[in-house]
Amino acid sequence: MERLQKVLAQAGVASRRKAEKMIIEGKVKVNGVVVTELGTKVSKTDRVEVEGVELVKEQFVYYLLYKPRGYISTVSDEKGRKTVLDLLPMVDERIFPVGRLDYDTSGLIILTNDGDFSYLMTHPKFGISKKYIAKVKGIPSRENLRKLEKGIRLEDGMTAPARVKMQSVDKKGGTAIVEITIHEGRNRQVRRMFDAIGCPVEKLKRESFANLTTRGLNAGESRELTTHEVKQLR
Ligand code: URA
Repeated sequence: MERLQKVLAQAGVASRRKAEKMIIEGKVKVNGVVVTELGTKVSKTDRVEVEGVELVKEQFVYYLLYKPRGYISTVSDEKGRKTVLDLLPMVDERIFPVGRLDYDTSGLIILTNDGDFSYLMTHPKFGISKKYIAKVKGIPSRENLRKLEKGIRLEDGMTAPARVKMQSVDKKGGTAIVEITIHEGRNRQVRRMFDAIGCPVEKLKRESFANLTTRGLNAGESRELTTHEVKQLR
């Protein structure tokens, strides 16, 4: 049994908030009866109608892709660049990436046709953790690493606390490998955070997203998430 507004949102009718409004406005029927109670739960066998149109129960699919550098994480690109969809097997569902990775960033990205799931994974209020491995130019001082950890001022405001760990230092090459875990997903956030301490990112990989990793995959490879993995994330 699921709450009616969640069923509507998952079916792509509207966001949860809008679906709630539609219920209150009497636009939704369950088994032929108008339902205006927000807490109403429905099962898979219930017939749900919105403004007289029966809900088609969509089959949700979830893919985990190890994105290589040089792919854009949108469904299409006006400049004709390769997109993450080019790396997936042909799927009937209209899937889209959950959040973004820059063209030059590699690593884990999820693709799905489940809008509600995408919202839960990307809205900062849910604080999903994302771990990145950054190769940076220069060797960040302890003090600067602490700044990244506590929160640093970017042009769109302070960043939320992050976890930061120096993995290794190449003194000769003048570079360092730093692990950073953030709980937000602003545009080019990790690159901007390292720019702010004067150590620009040379290479960036998203190592994990929530409890998922790219383990077992090579760059360019993908797999479907298991039902168990999806349940754990939801
Ligand atoms: N932060 C970045 O700067 N780039 C990404 O692709 C992801 C996070």
